[in-house]
Amino acid sequence: MSNLHKNNIPNKKKVKVKIFTKKQKSSKLINTVIEELNQKCKDIVASDCKTFNDFPLSSNTLKGLNESKYVNPTDIQRETILLALQGKDVLGAAQTGSGKTLAFLIPILETMYCNQWTHLDGLGALVITPTRELALQIFEVLRKVGKYHNFSAGLIIGGKDLKFERKRMDQCNIIICTPGRLLQHMDENPLFDCFNMKVCLLF
Ligand code: AMP
Repeated sequence: MSNLHKNNIPNKKKVKVKIFTKKQKSSKLINTVIEELNQKCKDIVASDCKTFNDFPLSSNTLKGLNESKYVNPTDIQRETILLALQGKDVLGAAQTGSGKTLAFLIPILETMYCNQWTHLDGLGALVITPTRELALQIFEVLRKVGKYHNFSAGLIIGGKDLKFERKRMDQCNIIICTPGRLLQHMDENPLFDCFNMKVCLLF
């Protein structure tokens, strides 16, 4: 932010600056939507979910899925998404190309949506992948499917500008990273904070 001196304000107009340091109260409508999603999570069974529209998902996620032409869940998605939405720990194993990425990205987006995550809440989900290529692929899918959410996401991998990352580490709600780079931030960067974190994913 630039340094504005009182006398530099044109025509001595008063400038009102609103600084939000507290979370704004959420609307009744959003609270009702979230309650309905949570209730549906308890009532539904995975075999009922033939398409993504049958899952208890926010309209933001459904819009991202529809736009990316994802209509029917794959087996690993059908088996795991509901469990993760119910807050259970999930261990999944499936072949390459079976749709594992969406199987964990959808619950990440939904967990943060249902917790009404904002930029003030910091890091909510951490995805650790073994290679830079995988991290980049996951990041691209997240950008597409999470397009209608308001979360900030960071790709934290070796070979990128460490200085740039260092200053922005506390502004990421979702981090997709490789282990080496993550350790570096954990060791050296006071802005790395996972106090509020809800989801940790090892790929
Ligand atoms: P992954 O196993 O996550 O790397 O996904 C492998 C490929 O399957 C990617 O090209 C995805 O775009 C695609 N894919 C994932 N989920 C679905 C789905 N539900 N419907 C159609 N294609 C999918």
